[in-house]
Amino acid sequence: MSNRDYASTQLAKVLTRIQNACAAAGRDSNSVRLIGASKRQAPELIHGFAEAGLTDVGENYLQEAQEKQSQLGNTALEWHYIGQIQSNKCKPIAEHFSWVHGVDRLKVAQRLHQHTPTERAPLKVLVQINIDDEQSKAGVSVQQAPDLCAKISELDKLALCGLMLIPAPQPDPERQRATFTQARDLLNHINQRHGLNLTELSMGMSNDLEQAVMAGSTMVRIGTDLFGARS
Ligand SMILES: *Cc1c(COP(=O)(O)O)cnc(C)c1O
Repeated sequence: MSNRDYASTQLAKVLTRIQNACAAAGRDSNSVRLIGASKRQAPELIHGFAEAGLTDVGENYLQEAQEKQSQLGNTALEWHYIGQIQSNKCKPIAEHFSWVHGVDRLKVAQRLHQHTPTERAPLKVLVQINIDDEQSKAGVSVQQAPDLCAKISELDKLALCGLMLIPAPQPDPERQRATFTQARDLLNHINQRHGLNLTELSMGMSNDLEQAVMAGSTMVRIGTDLFGARS
């Protein structure tokens, strides 16, 4: 099977899952953006997915992403940075991506702001929250998220759009959904408290896509169930 045919089949499967979850939640299926989480996937394969209609890809590692970007230079794709952000990498991240999902401290936001070229559209950013308070995980605490969002919203070369999270896996789908709902409630709380209009919730991966969409996700980041197992 060609990359293109494989991509069409896989893309259709994931889009059907999104549509079904949207239908179950009474949501418009255009309200969820599919981001292909393409770490450790070959550029030729990503190209096949772009030809099949995938519009957005998310990368975790800067060097790998930049190599792919140069190889896929003529392919129309919107690039999301979804990995952890080291503050000394903010310049290339701000210059080479449209979206940055993992902002979890003010210093990183300030550096991204500093390095966002003035002539282009604002860099779209999401604040990562550590929804389950896990020691090992990146993200600002739920308690500190409103204040961080308020401060980032004042940086004019950044467009703060919402929240991103990677919750701990829960065997029980109901509990998983409850965590996602908590994130949606937090987004609403931040908007009310600080007069903001954040609309995006980047949540949902291969194993919990349905629960995330039912709880209000607007961006799902799908790797394995879209591209296949990673090399
Ligand atoms: C790898 C990755 C994904 C996709 O994970 P799958 O389980 O393969 O769908 C989503 N988000 C982030 C931040 C990732 O690193």
